[in-house]
Amino acid sequence: MKKEKRVLIAGAGPAGLTAALELIRRSDIKPIIFETLDDVGGISRTINYKGNRMDIGGHRFFSKSDWVMDWWRTVLPIAPEKTADGLSLIPVEDRHMLIRPRLSRIYFLRKFFDYPVSLSLRTMTNLGPWRLIKIVVAFAWASVFQRKPERNLEDFFVNRFGTELYRTFFKDYTEKVWGVPCSEISPDWGAQRIKGLSVIGAIKHAVDKLFSHLGADVGQKNTNTSLIERFMYPKFGPGQMWQVVAEEVKARGGEIHHGHRVVKVSLDANKVTSIETEDCEGKRHTWIGDWFISTMAIRDLMQACDPPPPAEAAIVANGLCYRDFITMGLMVKKLKPTRDGRGPTNIVPDTWIYIQEPDVKIGRLQIFNNWSPALVAVKDVIWMGLEYFCQEDDELWSMSDQNFARFAINELAKIELIDPADAIDWNVVRVPKAYPAYFGSYGQFGTLRAYTDTITNLFLIGRNGMHRYNNQDHSMLTAKLAVDAILVGSPNKSSLWEINVDDDYHEEKISN
Ligand SMILES: Cc1cc2nc3c(=O)[nH]c(=O)nc-3n(C[C@H](O)[C@H](O)[C@H](O)COP(=O)(O)OP(=O)(O)OC[C@H]3O[C@@H](n4cnc5c(N)ncnc54)[C@H](O)[C@@H]3O)c2cc1C
Repeated sequence: MKKEKRVLIAGAGPAGLTAALELIRRSDIKPIIFETLDDVGGISRTINYKGNRMDIGGHRFFSKSDWVMDWWRTVLPIAPEKTADGLSLIPVEDRHMLIRPRLSRIYFLRKFFDYPVSLSLRTMTNLGPWRLIKIVVAFAWASVFQRKPERNLEDFFVNRFGTELYRTFFKDYTEKVWGVPCSEISPDWGAQRIKGLSVIGAIKHAVDKLFSHLGADVGQKNTNTSLIERFMYPKFGPGQMWQVVAEEVKARGGEIHHGHRVVKVSLDANKVTSIETEDCEGKRHTWIGDWFISTMAIRDLMQACDPPPPAEAAIVANGLCYRDFITMGLMVKKLKPTRDGRGPTNIVPDTWIYIQEPDVKIGRLQIFNNWSPALVAVKDVIWMGLEYFCQEDDELWSMSDQNFARFAINELAKIELIDPADAIDWNVVRVPKAYPAYFGSYGQFGTLRAYTDTITNLFLIGRNGMHRYNNQDHSMLTAKLAVDAILVGSPNKSSLWEINVDDDYHEEKISN
């Protein structure tokens, strides 16, 4: 009898599940996934809190890759009923994606600014003449006197926006995200995330917007990702996509083992020979497969290798840094009126708001009602996600849920967005390793990559798997290419490392 071929996969996030479904669709190789959590979707999962759903981060389903866009639409079709401007009406049936409009603004000086910052009358009034003059002079100065070479992210921002615009709209938010000064972050991060964003680009976009209607096309291929006006979104949040994929994987013979953490990867003669998982009761299980696809953090993977990697690779792996994340669902009766005359209102139109205010720690605010009304089970409330960037074990991370909720509610009250008496309910979710950092030993990543490339049946894919600031689409594309390589029997991984480096895949906004 022919021996069944098996691919062992660490992680049931977008990357692991895409790899599993691609294998099933295109071969008789059996995927076996091991997932620490009880849920699927990884960072792109949806938390269900008393019927109200929380998206960990607000996941736009948008890609410049047609392959990814088609893949998503095959799994969850776009709701057929549309409004006149091409947005989806909430479908009666559950398995659909909506087309949603993007509105994200910056909240600063207790006022709302357009995001990306525009040269509108409102922006100028909100900034005031003195700050405006400083912005124009600093931008003109930076255009002539460029900081070369660009040694860090601060240089990157200043060269494109000038010091004043950088200090006003980029510095505090970026430092909230990363917890270190921009002068300590590699300019690579800017190049990878916001390459196409510029003052000239923002002006051009504003003009284009005046003269063109984007219609029902959700592709927006020539639009910088920061400026995407509409995106697809599953009716019940991003996790719905990955639950449907997981169902298909299992229905077609794949396996998903929840509560199994990959803790050991045995190697012999440049091959993974077996892996070991630990289940919720601490019991160890050994698994043998022909290939191993890893979406687990590369630092954890290297620590699980037996024998351990060569010293120079181990040093790089141990020096990789991550940024962790807390998101708190907060249900309120209404928002307060704001200083720029918005409100009083029971809701704002934004999908998310960047909180630029330096006197609070909150980084972003999601308004889940505006992502999909189906995320909110309670009538006439605002269901929000308060996002905090932190470090595992720091003061924020270690707070009890109760204390954290009190702290976060007080922050929103301090910046005049809510009255604490209007808070109805909350739910705190901690997300370790939400962001692979472009500092620490990242500069020497090549050494680590060179070592892992020698392990012929090992494929590193996904966000933490490759230590890349990937969105779902990049993670999925790396999964697709890993499956391509497995199916043709090639150990060559160079194409995987091109994803999210090549312009087509660039994610250009400030941060997710
Ligand atoms: C705040 C925020 C906003 C975002 N917004 C967007 C957006 O708008 N659009 C977009 O496309 N993307 C967005 N992203 C990015 C998106 O979340 C990720 O790109 C995507 O989830 C990465 O998928 P992945 O499978 O590579 O990794 P993950 O989602 O991290 O999944 C990895 C899985 O592996 C499991 N795992 C880890 N270690 C082990 C182990 N040892 N054993 C077994 N299992 C293990 C984890 O539990 C997890 O389920 C956002 C991310 C954040 C943090």
